[in-house]
Amino acid sequence: MTLPLVFDAPRRGKPPTHLADLTLVERRAAVEEVGEKPYRADQISRHYFTRLSSAPAEMTDLPMTIRDRLAGALLPTLVTEQQALTCDEGATRKTVWRLFDGALVESVLMRYPDRSTVCVSSQAGCGMACPFCATGQAGLTRNLSTAEIVEQVLAAARVAASGELAGGASRLSNVVFMGMGEPLANYNAVLGAVRRLTDPSPAGLGLAQRHLTLSTVGLVPAMRRLVEEKLQVTLAVSLHAPDDELRDTLVPVNTRWPLSEVMDAAWSYAAATGRRVSIEYALIRDINDQPERARLLAELLRGRLAHVNLIPLNPTPGSQWTASRRESEQEFVRILRRAGVSTTVRDTRGREIDAACGQLAALQATPVDH
Ligand code: SAH
Repeated sequence: MTLPLVFDAPRRGKPPTHLADLTLVERRAAVEEVGEKPYRADQISRHYFTRLSSAPAEMTDLPMTIRDRLAGALLPTLVTEQQALTCDEGATRKTVWRLFDGALVESVLMRYPDRSTVCVSSQAGCGMACPFCATGQAGLTRNLSTAEIVEQVLAAARVAASGELAGGASRLSNVVFMGMGEPLANYNAVLGAVRRLTDPSPAGLGLAQRHLTLSTVGLVPAMRRLVEEKLQVTLAVSLHAPDDELRDTLVPVNTRWPLSEVMDAAWSYAAATGRRVSIEYALIRDINDQPERARLLAELLRGRLAHVNLIPLNPTPGSQWTASRRESEQEFVRILRRAGVSTTVRDTRGREIDAACGQLAALQATPVDH
């Protein structure tokens, strides 16, 4: 087992500003600042979001003399591939990205017959300390910027389009904020990424809001703020236990915002959006997989706009916990379905490259000086 290297929080600057951090209006202002006409912002945005290109040489509708200047101002390199690993017969790819200050984050691209989904990180590390999650063990390094999140998606879109994955070329269709970090603890940057990913070109990538999923441990004030955004993105709540006593240990932030408050906020979101809330529940052998807990969970969700995603626990290094027995899993599903609660068991893509749920744990690198 490799131990995560943890450093004292170093002084870190901000990542350079990238066009994906800015609205189209802000991009036009930035272009004028370097002495060019505002419409150049639309052109360079189209290269980025429609053609998925950041290379000045490909921007043939821009005069040679200004390509480098515009790219220098608006397209700094924010993520550099450190490592790429493929599994599931070539249909899943995990990438480890090195950020400008040496921090490492991971994203995972999954090609399905009917869609391509990327799972992105919203923070380097995570401060939520859930004991069964690998990312939770090393603590939080820092928040990612909007563009650092968007860049993970753009990189995945390029790979999907290139046809490198088994199944052939595809259009990236779905984004789940289920990589490293707690998205709602980095609210502004994450919401910026949601806007950039869903705004139509040239402002953004033009994905459907419904094809984005924000996953949270249950940060109630941020969930309430999200209700006000009037978005159609899917909200996923990492529940993992139907009672406060157990949830306090599995999702420590529950001691701050207990189940009743988390569920209230979730139902407000469902009411405001008309969308089913995803309830994430990692089945951990003999910890939270008893029939009694399935019944409690059914009570909590009966008649609500909810869908349960059961995730067989992906064991993490150093933990004694493991996935539920097959019989317990089946019984758990049966109890929920009998109560009329829509339930599925999530597939376990990426397991053998440590790219499955809760396994992302890029070691923190030594920050480089600037
Ligand atoms: N911080 C956010 C998003 C990141 S994790 C959240 O907690 O929702 C995405 C999902 O994977 C969460 O539901 C998380 O609880 C779950 N998960 C974490 N570790 C896991 C593990 N070892 N096995 C299975 N699921 C895990």
